[in-house]
This record gives sequence, structure tokens and C-alpha cells, in this order.
Amino acid sequence: MNKLNRRSMLKGFGAAALGAGAGIINPLKANGEEPRKNGLPPLKITKVKAIATSPEGIELVVVKVETSEPGLYGIGCATFRQRAHAVVAAIEKSLNDFCVGKDADNIEDLWQSTYQSSYWRNGPVLNNALSGLDQALWDIKGKRANMPVYQLLGGKSRFAVDCYAHASGESPGAVADDVTKYMEQGFRHVRIQLGGYGTTSLTAEPDYKKAGFGKQSDHYMDPYVYTKGTQDIFETVRKQCGKKVELLHDMHERLQPMDAINLIKSLEPYRPFFIEDPFSPENNRYFKLLRENTSVPIAMGELFNSPHEWIDPMKNLWFDFIRIHISQIGGITPAMKVARLGEAFNIRTAWHGPGDVSPVGHAANAHIDLAVWNFGIQERVNFSDKLREIFPGAPYIENGYMYVNEAPGLGVDINEKLALKYPLPDVQLNNWTQVRKNDGTIIRP
Ligand code: MG
Repeated sequence: MNKLNRRSMLKGFGAAALGAGAGIINPLKANGEEPRKNGLPPLKITKVKAIATSPEGIELVVVKVETSEPGLYGIGCATFRQRAHAVVAAIEKSLNDFCVGKDADNIEDLWQSTYQSSYWRNGPVLNNALSGLDQALWDIKGKRANMPVYQLLGGKSRFAVDCYAHASGESPGAVADDVTKYMEQGFRHVRIQLGGYGTTSLTAEPDYKKAGFGKQSDHYMDPYVYTKGTQDIFETVRKQCGKKVELLHDMHERLQPMDAINLIKSLEPYRPFFIEDPFSPENNRYFKLLRENTSVPIAMGELFNSPHEWIDPMKNLWFDFIRIHISQIGGITPAMKVARLGEAFNIRTAWHGPGDVSPVGHAANAHIDLAVWNFGIQERVNFSDKLREIFPGAPYIENGYMYVNEAPGLGVDINEKLALKYPLPDVQLNNWTQVRKNDGTIIRP
């Protein structure tokens, strides 16, 4: 097909999209052309690039996939805050070269071929880059189809995405006040934390600091202070905020497994909606013991990268919510498979949705949330005005529900010029993960 014919064909396709419902069966005949034999006109990837930005002090990485159709591109979230420069290198130094010239329509084939292209696979960094590519391809697919991505995933199973807010404070009373604030905003689900995750303290003077071990900026966690404090916030919040509000809590994997099991059992009277990430992935085998000892619902998985980490626990019904970080497993394509696997075992979704997911990543979460039957709950953050300016069309919250922009694709764009005004810092974030016991032993999150 010559160039001119192809252009007029694309125009015809656009007219068909606009004329949906008007009884147009084949726009090509109207142009005097033969009907297409192989679906959509070919669309090649011409460039895959990284856009890194840190407008609020949180390193975000977005993949932009450009195509042979002028003006048609997609974006996807590849954020891995702690190693953002490595993800940028993976995109620019290998993903671009691997993808250029390939057919942008074949998402599954591009996912599978990219996934195993490095031979070693299932790790962070490469999975993040793959996620950015995958989400961008779904964005393009939606734009091609003139539909929001959730429509391509099967349409809506619900009118909007029920979300939980994150309440915290330095005392049980302050946490309860924060919960009240969110309830007044319409949230039905609130996650409660005393201080930082694990009730870590920068000010306490543990023995390791007195001994000059570790760094001054390292955090200190006392398991007793954390355990007692968590029981106290549940008791106070239930007293002050009533029985109906759904309460969640993130253990952030930092307790010894038996201490974690005992804490969860002790929270039964407060009816938690779920307890999140009780064990580090290295301790997955403790889930069996946990299940035999308590019926408190469990959510797990934000640190998972590989199907090898979630398939057996899901098959064994070891948790109730799968809350993987979609950018860490490679995007929408594998997340849909995880969601379908969960449906078979009545495990609901609760995708990880913190500040170190870009607005386009939050949109990807929400499109899946809208479509899959076994959606559970969605973590959400507030986007600042600055973030909304850089990512026009970002999802928004009303009455505790998240809504997506109904524009074709993921509905989110990126203002590249503005994004580049906030470059990544040279030094990567490391101290957030540095939590130690009193004797200085490092604790795994
Ligand atoms: Mg968490």
C-alpha cells in the first residue's frame, strides 16, 4: 500500500471511531478502498525513551513509546525510586534498541520477547523498564481503539475504584484524629500507622548508635514499641471512630515471623480489613502457620517481582489480597494474569499505590481495578498541583473513590518540558531501607 493510500485509510479509521454507533460497518469502502485483511494498519515502534522527573523529591521514571504514526505515542510507569538511574539506563541502553522497528500492536509478543531477552529475568530494574513499555503499549492500543484501557480489559465491573487513605500520627489519639479527617472526606477504608513504618525512630539513642555502628541517619526499630503501639492505635481508633470504618495496617515485613503472627492474632477483636505484608518474601513459608492461627485477612506482595513468589502462596490460599507493585512485575499484561489467577482462588486485588508510583502508574492500577471482578481495594495518594501539571489527566478522588480520565488509552499525558525541569538527583535514596535493631543488626523490610 502506498503512503497516500495508507494516510487516507487512517483518516477513514478515525472517522469510523467518531461515527461509532452510527451504523458504519467499513469506512474503507466509503473511501473506495478494499477492506483491510489483517485488522489495523501496521504501526511500528520508532523510539522508546525514558522521561525521569522528581518534582516532589520522589524520583519518577516514565517510558514514552513513539510510533510510525505521527503524534501517536503511549506512556507507562517504570518507577523504581531507589534505583531510578539504573531503570533509565535499561530503557535507553537496551529497551529502545530491542523494540525499534517492532509492531506496536502485539503487546503480548513484545512483553514475552522483552521479558526473556536478557536471559536472566524476574528482577527489579528490568521489570520496571518492561512495565513502562507494556503500559505505554496499552495506552497506544487504547488510543488506536478510541477507548479507555479498562474497556479493552472487559469494561467496568464497578462505577469507580474504592480507595483507602493513609492515616498516621505520633500518638494513638493523633492517629484517630487523622482517621476522623479521612472519614469526613468520604473514605470508608483507612490504613493506620503509628509514626513511620515499624514505628521507627530517628531520635531514640539505641546502643548501636552509642557504639558508633552504622550511620547516624539509620533508623531504629524496637519490636516491643512497635507491637504495643500498633495494638494501642487499633484500640483507640475503634473507640474514637466506631466499628464501621474499615481499618488496615502495614507491618512492612519488619517483625520476626512468630512476633508477627502473635501481633495479628491480638488484633482480631478490632476486625482489621487486612493486615499488610506481615513477612518479608524470604519468609513466605510462614504463611501456612499464620493461616492456621488466625482468620484476620492478610494482604501481601508489594516486594514481589516474580511469579515464583506468588503462584504457590495464592494456590495455597495463604493470603486474601494480592498487592503487588504493577511496575515491579512488568505492567498491565502480567497484572491481568495475576488478577485472573486470584479470581480462581477468591483472592482480591489491592495493588500497591504509594507516592513512588507516577500518576500514569496510578491510572494503570485504576483501569485494572475498574475491569476485574475480584478487585478488593486500592491504595491511593494525593497528587500535588505540580504533579497534575506535569501529568495532565491524572486520576482523581471523590468521596473515597478514584476515577480515571475517560480519554482513550490510560487517559494521562506528560508535559515533557515541565518534567525535565525537575531532574533526578545524582544520589539515590538508600537510607529509607536502613532500619536496625538495638545491637545494630539490619532488619529486612
Ligand atoms: Mg506496604
